Formats: sequence, structure tokens, C-alpha cells
Amino acid sequence: MQPLRIVVKVGTSILTNGTMRLSRQRMLELASQIVFAQQQGHEMILVSSGAVAAGRERLNYPDLGRAVSGKQMLSAVGQSRLMQIYTELFDIFEVVVAQVLLTREDIGNRTRYLNARDTLLTLIERKIVPIINENDTTATHEIRVGDNDNLSALVATLVEADLLVILTDQPGLFTADPRRFANAQLIAQVSHIDETTWALAGEAGTALGTGGMITKLQAAQLASRGGVTTIIAGGREPRILERLLAGEQIGTRFEAQTTRLESRKRWLLTEQPRGVVRIDAGAARKLQTSGASLLAVGVVGVEGRFERGATVLVTGPDGKEIAHGLTSYDSEALRRLCGVRSDRIAEILGYTYGDAVIHRNNLVMLA
Ligand code: GLU
Repeated sequence: MQPLRIVVKVGTSILTNGTMRLSRQRMLELASQIVFAQQQGHEMILVSSGAVAAGRERLNYPDLGRAVSGKQMLSAVGQSRLMQIYTELFDIFEVVVAQVLLTREDIGNRTRYLNARDTLLTLIERKIVPIINENDTTATHEIRVGDNDNLSALVATLVEADLLVILTDQPGLFTADPRRFANAQLIAQVSHIDETTWALAGEAGTALGTGGMITKLQAAQLASRGGVTTIIAGGREPRILERLLAGEQIGTRFEAQTTRLESRKRWLLTEQPRGVVRIDAGAARKLQTSGASLLAVGVVGVEGRFERGATVLVTGPDGKEIAHGLTSYDSEALRRLCGVRSDRIAEILGYTYGDAVIHRNNLVMLA
């Protein structure tokens, strides 16, 4: 099987096994499944809730009313404990984990978007498992994603995952609420999310955790539009990842609506360029014919002021528009890098974000 990049999302109700405490046993099972998939060559990222539950457990279930700050406090107490447990469990398999806390801003803001992406990719390249949660402590209402289902879909598109697996306390999406209707059937595959699908999610909603089935469906839609196939499956199924990866049909599968490349291209093309990067004929030819990344040596001029991560227009020697791209360097740095060989970047700037001024994955050709 071809190695896949997989984001696994696990909610509080799975981690607590439906109780008031985090279940080490459940978490060990999850860790072993992730390690198993990793040993098969897959790249694994975990999005895990459970911080608030861990905090509540540690503080002996205080009554904090509905105050946001109370929840943030629980999360602050619980997040480190959550990570401590994961660290210990993954240590059993000699796998290193890393905590990554994100908010919507980290994904919406271009500079941070690139930073988050680079960090996650660097971690998985080293076989370190990133464990992601929303940064509840600093995330105010405006910048929150709000639930980890949507967060996991954003992460999956951010890292261009092949697969998003949302593990929940329901076996998947049903034709009716399975707790109320005995004849409710599990839907194995959804090829297109439409009104009927949304209506089903409304009925099958669960009160546990932040998100019910609605947020899972939102996540599936977001991911599939971003080119990521999504599976919503029961987190209590034994050896769930192993079986899914073996091709067993479990849960509800939402096929990607587009390829990841197309999705990114569409996104890049709708962006208003913040500046212009002029390149020489040699670089233009390389970009057009061999799908190469743009290197500093081919850059002859920079117009405008922009940040790292901004969309820029790339033009050729005759001013012809060649591509849109996400720049790895801000305009000031780029001006200093005109015509410079890649191995001198660190020396000139005192840091480097890599050889590519615009990575080929972040380029959309116009001509
Ligand atoms: N970030 C929250 C936590 O770790 C959970 C959010 C969610 O369940 O979607 O407790």
C-alpha cells in the first residue's frame, strides 16, 4: 500500500470511554494504532481533545458555571496532563510526540499558516507524532475554531493529508437516529453532502464533546473540498486504524471532491497578489518546463511589500505573468536574495526557510 498522510481526530467521549475520566487503556489502544500505522510507513498526525476533561478530573470536578475563563482554566490545567499521558504511552513504543496548539488565526494568517505547515511537516518527516489541540487558553471567541472536528479538517487541508479519520462514539452516519430507530442503517459512503445529509446529521447528533454529528459533517465537507477523503468511524472499534488501512469498510466514508492540487490552485488563484517577483528567462523556463521550485538565483527584482506566506505574482523578463505563488520569504528578505545562490541564504539573512523562494507545491502556473 502506498504510504498515506493521515490525520486522526479523537474526541473526549472516546478518550474518556464515556466516563468522567480519561481512559489510559483507551489512549494506549489509540497510541498503539497510530504507531502501527506509522510502522506501515504512513505519516500520522493526531488531533486530540480531552484537555478540559483532564483538567476537570485533576481539579476534582469543580463547579465553574458557564464562564469561558473557567473552561480555559480547565484546559490549561488539563492540556499538560493530557500530553504527559500521551508522552508516556507513546514512549512505550519509543515514539516521540510533540504538542502543537493552534487557533483559527494560525491557519488563516498566511505567515503563521506556512509556519504551522512547515513545523508539522518537519515533525512527521522525523516520525514524531504531532498531537494537536486548539489553544483554548488564548483562543477567544473570534479566533476560535471552536471544535476539534473542524480543526482536524483544517489541519488535514493544511498538511495536504490523504485521509482524515474522525473517531467518535457513533459508528458513523446513520439513515436515522440509531438510538431512537431500530431500523436505522449505517451509511457506508457519501459521495456528495447535500440537504438530506445535513438533515441526517441533525438527528444523529450526540450531546457528548463539543461537536455532535453536525460538526463532523462540516469537517467532512471542508476536508473533501480540500481534496482529503474523510472517514467517520466508531472510536471504540478494536484495531480501528489497522482494519481501515487493510481496506475494511467501517464507518462512513466521504470521498474527496477534488484533488488536493486543484484545491490549492483554486485557492491560490483567488488570492489577490501582494507583490511581484520578477524572474529571469532561465528561471521562467525551469518553472514552465520542469515544474521546479523558484530559487533565489533566478529572482531579478521584487515589487511591493509583503510578508512570508503572501501570494505574489511571478513575472518573466518581458513582464509576462507566469505564476501565482506563496512566498517563503518576505519582500525585504527577497530583495536581499536577488540572484543569490541557495547555499548563501543563511549567511546573508542569518536564517533560512529553505532553498525555495517559492516551493513548487506553492506555485500555480498561469502561462
Ligand atoms: N479543545 C477541547 C479540549 O481539549 C475540545 C474541543 C472539542 O471537543 O471539539 O478539551
